[in-house]
Amino acid sequence: MSLLRIKCPSCGTVQDIEASGAACKKCSGALILPEDGVIQIYRMGSPLGVAVGMGIYVNENPMGHLANASTIKIPVAYGHYKVHMTHGTNRKCQDAEFDITPENRVVCLKAHLKMGFISNKVIIEQATPDSMPPA
Ligand SMILES: [Zn+2]
Repeated sequence: MSLLRIKCPSCGTVQDIEASGAACKKCSGALILPEDGVIQIYRMGSPLGVAVGMGIYVNENPMGHLANASTIKIPVAYGHYKVHMTHGTNRKCQDAEFDITPENRVVCLKAHLKMGFISNKVIIEQATPDSMPPA
């Protein structure tokens, strides 16, 4: 089972939990997850730059990192979202932008690193749920 990523509303610590209602690892406050929808991000396995975690930003808010060939789920409320990712100090990214609505509650994203001549770029693409690795 993949973990759920949440930012504690009390202390702002980004962490992974298994289910809604878990206690914050830092301030012990209850972490109640938004249940409208989920942004699922899979970082495609790659031999390039594997040791470096990719930084995740949802609407400019830092949401931790994602290791190579791993998946994270970020529960969210309905709304408009832009997902931006960084790789090390590299901030070049093709962002993903979408709406979470009652008709579109789960958005699956795949991220990979595109190697360039001068610098690399993170590419985020929307994917179908059945093309994602098993959660
Ligand atoms: Zn907290």
